[in-house]
Amino acid sequence: MEKLIITVATTGAMTTKENTPYLATAPQEIAEEVYLAYQAGASVAHIHVRTDEGKATMDLKKFEETVGLVREKCDIIINMTSSGGLGFSDEERILPHEVLKPDMGTFDAGSMNFYDGIFINSPEFLRKLGRAYLANGIKPEVEVFDAGMIWNAKRLMKEGILQAPVHFQCCLHVAGGMEGTPKNLLRLVEDLPEGSTWSAFGCGASALALSTMAIHMGGHVRVGMEDNVYLNKNELAVHNYEFIERIQRLAKEFRREVANVEEARKILSLPPRK
Ligand code: ZN
Repeated sequence: MEKLIITVATTGAMTTKENTPYLATAPQEIAEEVYLAYQAGASVAHIHVRTDEGKATMDLKKFEETVGLVREKCDIIINMTSSGGLGFSDEERILPHEVLKPDMGTFDAGSMNFYDGIFINSPEFLRKLGRAYLANGIKPEVEVFDAGMIWNAKRLMKEGILQAPVHFQCCLHVAGGMEGTPKNLLRLVEDLPEGSTWSAFGCGASALALSTMAIHMGGHVRVGMEDNVYLNKNELAVHNYEFIERIQRLAKEFRREVANVEEARKILSLPPRK
């Protein structure tokens, strides 16, 4: 089996300081959490940024500062969000990628209800985003929240907007998408185009079971406070690396070696760091 890539998602758009006082929101805090996770074995950092007030944003300056600080500390693979939350314009969502050229960027392969809002990823937006990624050498991480999104991705592959081998992130237990059950993860993975790589996470209480399945099935995992703030029932994680340490323990039990950054780059068909 391929070595295991661990992605850390420290911040996201939906988690608040009310959910956990330990949430990293300032660029320095996010960079420090990413670095600690990297030291614990994460090879990819999925990055969101917040305003000074802690609100979700696609502000270029915040991305510039955060990514700059992370790059100073370590060579972790940078995977920037292209949604940033709900309601940002197509231009706001694409600009930080064109300027900062991260290794990877998220590509949400369809529209859906998202908690109490609507997450819009129109066909027109997806084509624009895909072309921007191709033009800037950014590998898409195709996020699928529902089975139909894999079919969308397959059609975009035929158009050349997405190019094989595609990397998928199975995003489960997001209200509006698929429930975080073992059956649903199996259902998604069965449908992926041959030769794809994939990772998975489940929000909230489904996180641990889905990580365990992904490790066992040959997928990769994403953990962090974007998806789940509890290390155990009624016990908040203080740092994101605590989730990485648990994945390390599980991977060891499943005889699955964990990939370092260089190995993760090979698995994801990324070029060596620019
Ligand atoms: Zn995200």
